[in-house]
Amino acid sequence: MNIQKNVALVAHDNRKNDLVEWVEWNDEILAGHNLICTGTTGMILQKAFDKKFENGEIKMTPKIKRLKSGPLGGDQQLGSMIVDGQIDCMIFFWDPMQPHPHDVDVKALLRIAVLYNLPIACNRSTADFMISSPLMQGEYTPTIKDYSSYINRYE
Ligand code: PGA
Repeated sequence: MNIQKNVALVAHDNRKNDLVEWVEWNDEILAGHNLICTGTTGMILQKAFDKKFENGEIKMTPKIKRLKSGPLGGDQQLGSMIVDGQIDCMIFFWDPMQPHPHDVDVKALLRIAVLYNLPIACNRSTADFMISSPLMQGEYTPTIKDYSSYINRYE
């Protein structure tokens, strides 16, 4: 992965304020990367960036790529991007206190992220560790397990 990373940002409704706070805290660093969000998370974060830009608090406002809203397929779109190598890391503040209609999509997204050895932060502490890692500002090649024996199992 390149120095400029494709960072996925997602938060469930009860965690959106936490994510906005974390993003505002790390706005300068994040503005240097490409940000990809599920629909509502992306809309809220874009507003937060635009407001800071208008107030002169940040030098540039990043263009956020917005997918569908999570329950409307956004989680699956993100999973597909991970499979295609288009996401380098993910901050996913999921809600541990409430069931969601799209729990299966959330599980699928987390599963595919683990399968592809994607760095994932699901809470603020891990997100803090991730964003302050020197690897965030450098090049890094994650190793992906060799699945060729699985792929070729019928040959
Ligand atoms: P949202 O989706 O950003 O559209 O709210 C998040 C999710 O529930 O996965």
